[in-house]
Amino acid sequence: MNLIIFGPPGAGKGTQSNFIANKYKLFQLETGKILRNEVKNKTELGIKISSRMNEGSLVSDEIVSKLVEKFISNKKHKNKFIFDGYPRNIPQAENLNNLLNKYEQKAGLVLKLSVSLDIIKKRISGRSVCSICEKIYNEYFNPAPLNSNCCAPRFLKKRSDDTLNIAVKRFQNYEKNTEPLIKFYKNLNLLKVVNGESPISQINAEISGLIDSNEGWL
Ligand code: AMP
Repeated sequence: MNLIIFGPPGAGKGTQSNFIANKYKLFQLETGKILRNEVKNKTELGIKISSRMNEGSLVSDEIVSKLVEKFISNKKHKNKFIFDGYPRNIPQAENLNNLLNKYEQKAGLVLKLSVSLDIIKKRISGRSVCSICEKIYNEYFNPAPLNSNCCAPRFLKKRSDDTLNIAVKRFQNYEKNTEPLIKFYKNLNLLKVVNGESPISQINAEISGLIDSNEGWL
């Protein structure tokens, strides 16, 4: 069974998806990270999308859809996906349904992480990522361990779109484009809302409970 996670920027999607992927041996398909790597490596695609990424706008549905299909069509990950950052709007959600049908797969559970704008501002301004192991930290809520070799301060990097102005734009984008997914997945009887403001371990436990009690979970 596949799982979908969505929520505003800074809601903790990446942290929670990573936890779920490890615990349930799922493949974390994180569109934002894949697109950021394209920009970092200055590929043809990366050059095309860099300005939209840097200003906090969504990349075109067509580009993201092609990218997602490449992964969904890979039999190795059949029914073992956690979709993190996709879909981001109704056309993408419809496309994902079509792709899952096409490759004989199903979405079993959709998690929405709820977080207020005030908390998001703190989450985003405090967020950094270890450039060695890619672990996500937050100087206010989840600081990197002081005695770690890998995640030492010199290896912690900020995302270029994690500035306050761009964060607000990304949040507005989320409200306009992504919030309609709540109704979409409610109608499919797949949606569960999780309070993304709780401590990380509590969210981990709540999500595990939802997955474990989901009928038909592989
Ligand atoms: P994220 O890491 O999920 O916050 O995504 C970072 C950026 O990648 C977004 O602000 C968008 O520019 C782009 N992006 C990621 N996923 C999508 C998607 N499903 N559709 C369009 N753009 C996306």
